[in-house]
Amino acid sequence: MAIDFEAVIGLEVHAQLLTRTKAFCSCSTSFGDPPNTNVCPVCLGLPGALPVLNREAVRMGIRAAHALECAVHARSVFARKNYFYPDLPKGYQISQFDQPLATDGRLRVQAYDQKGKLVIDREVRIQRVHMEEDAGKNVHGFGGMSVVDLNRAGTPLIEIVGEPDLRSSEEAAEYLRQLRTLLMSLRICDGNMEQGSFRCDVNVSVRARGEERLGTRTEIKNVNSFRFVQRAIDYEVARQKAVLASGGQVVQETRGWDDKEGKTVSQRSKEEAHDYRYFPEPDLPPLVLEPAWIEQERGALPELPAAMRDRWMRSWGLTSHAAGVLTSHPGIAAFFERAVERGAEPLKAANFVLSEVLRDAHTDGLDARLPIGPEQLARLLAIVEDGTISGKQAKEVYAAMVGTSQTPDEVVAARGMKQLSDAGAIEQVCARVIAANARQAAAYRSGKTALLGYFVGLVMKETRGSASPKLVNETLARLLGP
Ligand code: ADP
Ligand code: MG
Ligand code: ZN
Repeated sequence: MAIDFEAVIGLEVHAQLLTRTKAFCSCSTSFGDPPNTNVCPVCLGLPGALPVLNREAVRMGIRAAHALECAVHARSVFARKNYFYPDLPKGYQISQFDQPLATDGRLRVQAYDQKGKLVIDREVRIQRVHMEEDAGKNVHGFGGMSVVDLNRAGTPLIEIVGEPDLRSSEEAAEYLRQLRTLLMSLRICDGNMEQGSFRCDVNVSVRARGEERLGTRTEIKNVNSFRFVQRAIDYEVARQKAVLASGGQVVQETRGWDDKEGKTVSQRSKEEAHDYRYFPEPDLPPLVLEPAWIEQERGALPELPAAMRDRWMRSWGLTSHAAGVLTSHPGIAAFFERAVERGAEPLKAANFVLSEVLRDAHTDGLDARLPIGPEQLARLLAIVEDGTISGKQAKEVYAAMVGTSQTPDEVVAARGMKQLSDAGAIEQVCARVIAANARQAAAYRSGKTALLGYFVGLVMKETRGSASPKLVNETLARLLGP
């Protein structure tokens, strides 16, 4: 009998903090500068240089910890995590080990499908959030040589360690998406996965369903896109199931994701694993936080994306799908909220943003470039509402506004596009269309009333979409009627 296996997944996320300067020195954290220009004795690990902790990095760590409902500790301790690698000039990474900044949090992950059905509802316990520094970067292939760029060395990170509470690759990807959106909404991480400012290690095991004990896990290091995370987990779960089903045992090891081959490959076994040898960091005192500061940072949190989504569903009647999409990036959420503040009716605005505006929107880190401004959107919907233009014309006005600062009224005036709502004029067009289609008119009158749409279409065509659809429908029904 085939065993029913269940996947168990736990993620360790590294998020680069958006401080201007590094964690323990005043070098710039800016991305993409010429190699080894943002370095100093501290981040180069020169003898005698002493680290000084960046207060902004701590502030951001505290905010993340609060947003994840962790207990933030008034006292935490830095440690040296020793390993040898070319991109680590000191030979150790400053991190936190047995006394981290924060512990015992949670993130509730919910996702709805297009029909509004709740398809993912999972609470992931957060084991810990701790502060650490990033390593540099090895750059391969300089005339066959490998070189090291230390601009990134010493950039502040938080590591967010989740308990093994996820049960599928979809849940894992959704957890990552929502965690990323959360950190972005706090403005502490730009969420850029390609540049590595948001990356994760994926721990995967399987066990017989109903079994309480965890199975042996493998760890897939540094997976840098949601799609790769999902594919790597699917592959790894299937591989482990096959090993167990054939009577074998999963070997605890580190694996890497090879996207070209579409599989995970063994990198090093537990025996070869780094023995990190953590030591207390002698050059940094324990991190002692004023309880008042901890509380103050809790109070400074913005409305979190999940709360915003629920509020928009509750107070404005947005569908779960629309609310989820609109809160998935803080720049888009701010745009939408602003449009509603400016008088846009929330449901109509949500529809228009989802069907038109998002197609032309671009996000780059925390920035969102929207094709029109919230005031333009609000006014556009208002002149549809008051009958100045039709819904169809609204799309034309929108397209004309993209990338410009024209108001909808200016576009309407320039194009002479007012909606035709003069009853007499509409009746004339309707009568003409009926006369020109005598056969269909007779069919309608003998009971084929579904032909009304045919006539409406012709009238709309004649008026180039400017006629009020409501008036056209009424007029045609009257003229064709008994
Ligand atoms: P480390 O990787 O540093 O040895 P831990 O043992 O604390 O540290 O585990 C780190 C991560 O591995 C956590 O995210 C945890 O959820 C996950 N994890 C631990 N055991 C398992 C398991 N059996 N299956 C899946 N994930 C696991
Ligand atoms: Mg690990
Ligand atoms: Zn430096």
